[in-house]
Amino acid sequence: MLRKNDPTPVVVEKWLTDFEQALAAPNDAGLRALFRPDCHWRDVLALTWTIQTLGGRDTVVSALKQWAARARPKGFRIAENRTPPRRVTRVGTDTIEALLAFETDGGWCDGVVRLTEDGGAPQAWTLLTSLDQIKGHEEQFGRTRRQDKVYSRDFRGPNWLDQRKASVEYADRDPAVLVVGGGQAGLSIAARLTQLQIDTLIVDRWPRIGDNWRRRYHALVLHNQTHVNHLPYMPFPPTWPNYIPKDKIATWFEAYVDSQELNYWTGTDFEGASYDEAQGRWTITLPHADGTMRQLRPRHVVMATGASGIPVLPDIPTLKNFRGTVIHSSQYEDGEAWKGKSALVIGTGNSGHDIAQDLHSAGANTTLVQRGSTMVVQVEPGAQLPYTLYDEGPPLEDCDLITVSVPLALAKKSHIAMTEQAKKLDQLLLDGLARRGFRLDFGDDRAGWQFKYLTRGGGYYFNVGCSDLIVTGEIGLIQFSDIAEFVADGARLRDGNVLKADLIVLATGYKGQEALMRKLFGDAVATRVGSIWGFGDGQELRNMFVRTPQPGLWFIAGSFAQCRIYSKYLALQIKASEEGLLPAD
Ligand SMILES: Cc1cc2nc3c(=O)[nH]c(=O)nc-3n(C[C@H](O)[C@H](O)[C@H](O)COP(=O)(O)OP(=O)(O)OC[C@H]3O[C@@H](n4cnc5c(N)ncnc54)[C@H](O)[C@@H]3O)c2cc1C
Repeated sequence: MLRKNDPTPVVVEKWLTDFEQALAAPNDAGLRALFRPDCHWRDVLALTWTIQTLGGRDTVVSALKQWAARARPKGFRIAENRTPPRRVTRVGTDTIEALLAFETDGGWCDGVVRLTEDGGAPQAWTLLTSLDQIKGHEEQFGRTRRQDKVYSRDFRGPNWLDQRKASVEYADRDPAVLVVGGGQAGLSIAARLTQLQIDTLIVDRWPRIGDNWRRRYHALVLHNQTHVNHLPYMPFPPTWPNYIPKDKIATWFEAYVDSQELNYWTGTDFEGASYDEAQGRWTITLPHADGTMRQLRPRHVVMATGASGIPVLPDIPTLKNFRGTVIHSSQYEDGEAWKGKSALVIGTGNSGHDIAQDLHSAGANTTLVQRGSTMVVQVEPGAQLPYTLYDEGPPLEDCDLITVSVPLALAKKSHIAMTEQAKKLDQLLLDGLARRGFRLDFGDDRAGWQFKYLTRGGGYYFNVGCSDLIVTGEIGLIQFSDIAEFVADGARLRDGNVLKADLIVLATGYKGQEALMRKLFGDAVATRVGSIWGFGDGQELRNMFVRTPQPGLWFIAGSFAQCRIYSKYLALQIKASEEGLLPAD
């Protein structure tokens, strides 16, 4: 923390002044002197109109020069009224971390620089440049809030409620943006777009807003603490508990839609769309649950469908011998019906564990069947370690900016350290699981659950009790390789015994977004767009929160925090596209 007479702000101000001058200078020498050889630059729309991370001084300096020539950044300074520059340790490195502000020809921007001194002049280790507002299209809030009329000669004219009803009907117009999916991803992007005065409609197949949470298992509370899970603009009340129960968040979603004036059609299944290149519009026919049909022609479709895509149903030839009930985890609703019966749950990710625990709690004799090694982390404190920053004091917006400013390579190092820390904290439980024959892993390069999530969307379990029940033997555990074949009344094991079952749940996950895109938009669009989510060889999630190769098609997904943070940048790009400000390249 900064103390009185601390020279830190002076050091930062000097670096920023030198940086601005060096950016405008005709050669690279000045700029090179300001960066460490192992530096990283992440730009989030400010200079490049995309999200990209570059590493290494030569690459960073030449790219900064190139993009600065177009965007013409200026006015670099320490951000006013935000967390002041601080000396902190990030990924084991002592650094001065400063939130900054600047502008380009088109935008009001912010960012974060981390300087290290290493005995010489301060040099940048990491630099984030990010777009905050588009000039001339600023969000309207606080003192610039929307100016509705207070005075009216006609008291019977359409009031707010009449206008909201007309707005959501779309009787005589098309939305500019159709958002498919009304979970946290859909709500976040719709709220941001609505704030930017982009006409946006959410459609969701569930009959009631919040059903995506309401219909999950009985005991569910969110896994992350309340202070990291806020939606944009409308933080949860400070009186709320640290872990939000599912029905509470579902009800909040309803209130959020009302409060943020979001247009939302429930009971509406999105079954596909075709794109008219000449018109720059999608044609979409939407069947409602009541049997009626509507055709819409939005310019943009944002896919916010989460994991609820296409279930993976593994090819297990002998499963056809089984005479009991077989369901995919997506079809599982409640354990009550299985009281006193026996169940096998195949798959040891979060869903498999949660369903096994729900069945066990309902009085079913339950066995988990493990197919691949799985990471297990205690939901508290291990799974909360990545969010420590949000408990350190800076306001939410500053924590979000600091989170965005960490380049992938450093994030990975930090997660390797956190995985090691969580492993130590959880050692007793992990030893108990290992004794039961549970096969544990800690992710590729031991980078833990966050990287499993970002690369494959699963492969881990936050223990909320099921692991303890496995350790005590109350929930059984076998390996899939222990099963010789499925038979009419269960699974015959290699030792000849039959493990009886009335129910088999395939908690075997979902196909990736590519498969869903292929189904909904066809082969040509799927091929054009390519991979979605995961990093491939790059340092950013593929086709997430940015322009895809298919005009008018966008994707958003992730945790509450990711959706809150990146919905802002996705909305800014759509706004820029609508205003003709998004450059072609
Ligand atoms: C027990 C548990 C605890 C969790 N805790 C947290 C936590 O604390 N913090 C956190 O960040 N994450 C948490 N998660 C993980 C994750 O954030 C959620 O799974 C979340 O639901 C993802 O949100 P989403 O909006 O991307 O997708 P979803 O919530 O799955 O919403 C997608 C919506 O799209 C709709 N849809 C899909 N396809 C179509 C279609 N073709 N037409 C119309 N509608 C469609 C669906 O009906 C659904 O409502 C938790 C998950 C579980 C299971």
